[in-house]
Amino acid sequence: MAGDAELHCTFHGIGVSAGTAVGPLVVVTPPPKAPADEAPTTDAAAASATVHQVLDDVAKGLDARAASAAEHAKPILEAGAMMARDPGLAMGIDTQLQKGLGVATAVTAAVEEYCAMFESLGGYMAERVTDLRDVRDRAVARLLGQPEPGVPSLTVPSILAAHDLAPAETATLTAETCLGIITEAGGPTSHTAILASQLAIPAVVQAVGILGIPAETTVAIDGGVGEITVNPTAQEIELLAERKRRRAAALAGGTGNGATKDGYPVALLANIGTADDARKAAKQPVEGVGLFRTEFLFLDRDTMPTVEEQTATYTEVFQAFGTRRVVVRTLDAGADKPLKFADLGPEENPALGRRGIRLGMIRTDVLDAQLEALAAAYKATGADVRVMAPMIATQAEATWFADKVRALGLPKVGVMIEVPAAAIRSKGILYHVDFASLGTNDLQQYTMAADRMQGELAALLNPWEPALLDVVALACEGGAAMGKPVGVCGEAAGDPGLALVLAGLGVSSLSMAPGKVPAVRTALGLHTLTQCQQMAAAARAGTNATEAKAAVMAMADPVLADLV
Ligand code: PEP
Ligand code: MG
Repeated sequence: MAGDAELHCTFHGIGVSAGTAVGPLVVVTPPPKAPADEAPTTDAAAASATVHQVLDDVAKGLDARAASAAEHAKPILEAGAMMARDPGLAMGIDTQLQKGLGVATAVTAAVEEYCAMFESLGGYMAERVTDLRDVRDRAVARLLGQPEPGVPSLTVPSILAAHDLAPAETATLTAETCLGIITEAGGPTSHTAILASQLAIPAVVQAVGILGIPAETTVAIDGGVGEITVNPTAQEIELLAERKRRRAAALAGGTGNGATKDGYPVALLANIGTADDARKAAKQPVEGVGLFRTEFLFLDRDTMPTVEEQTATYTEVFQAFGTRRVVVRTLDAGADKPLKFADLGPEENPALGRRGIRLGMIRTDVLDAQLEALAAAYKATGADVRVMAPMIATQAEATWFADKVRALGLPKVGVMIEVPAAAIRSKGILYHVDFASLGTNDLQQYTMAADRMQGELAALLNPWEPALLDVVALACEGGAAMGKPVGVCGEAAGDPGLALVLAGLGVSSLSMAPGKVPAVRTALGLHTLTQCQQMAAAARAGTNATEAKAAVMAMADPVLADLV
């Protein structure tokens, strides 16, 4: 319906994954809850027939989705359909209906009882709990006359709009059918944003009000500048296409190792989360993996993967990269990435709580199993494996981790610097390990005391913030003093302008979603190291993020503007 004057408007958010697309809007609905004041059941037999019919519809819907889903998603959907047809569940619901509970309340209560039973059985059965709750949400929605919740199956290529997406939901999307992602919440370093760029899907977060746009409306998204146009005119679509062409021209050609114009090397590496990511990234001209977020392998698991299972996955990843380096981060669970099998219970401030290495030091069984699997995969492949720990704050944590890794014969050990204490005292920390990688996402959240998940605080989470650059500079000084490499693997590494600043500050590698590498390679190749150093100084002299970015853009080659 391009050109519909009534609905023609523009939304501005934060662009978190570059690229442009035009397509129909599909809205993701949140799971409904059984209403507290639901009418009680007076005719249990009739209510039972209604619920059984709804469960059958849910099962058929899941079967249909499984038939057209990608291979890795089929078993999940089929398991859900099987759950919806489970006679035990139907009987449990009938029991609740006979007690007089309303239909949606009865489904909710019966599912919870079933979940408790499955959880007590552990293992494979415990893992079915997620499927059961999904069936519950779908059945309750149907009973309340609402659309089924969650990411719908995209039958035609569409642009997805949601309040926010859980990492597990985003992971099921593919660039073939999901042309773009727009969320009302989320920040530039939220894991939804990270996964979107991982999948090379244009994405905009903080697009407040987008959920007010009716489904099926045609929208145009520019994930670089963070703009969404509702019912774009033919001229606007052409402008977007022109932007796409300019960007493609600026990116054309480069495939070599990352380096400034005068040859100062800055390794360009890929961030990955799964073996599938690894296979795809390995085909790209990247110099290896700078961050393997291993927790993404386990996000949808209720029980810990076995050592054998983990060994197989790591072996696959290492083999995909041959002689190229693979930097593996041990499980970074907690806060916004909760893992069911490594949960230490609720905390007042999860981001400041027992997450990352802190969790690893408590659940040594989980960390030891992972390191054992990594060591086995290393021995099997002889790959260039480098293992690093998340959320290191002290020298004691660094030595504790390094000792464990070295005892297993793994060749290189490092730490993530994402806590300001570690950046400020990086020299002492680097004394114990071989390398460090700056996690600018968390480093910024902790430097600014601004929750990276809280979209309202996005202004404090702009990676051009001079305070963040100062902390990065301190970390690099420690690295230079110890003669040890310091890289960056937070989202800042994938911003072509910031990449210049980071190179100027002395980082030796930049790791990002593989789709961002060409723009960063081009940006580096257009500037000398001295220019990068001058840009870094100018950015740090800014009084805020806007000034810092403006100073760099003014000094940079004009082509830089086409790269975002
Ligand atoms: C970071 O904090 O910058 C980082 C790379 O780790 P994650 O985004 O997974 O927390
Ligand atoms: Mg982090």
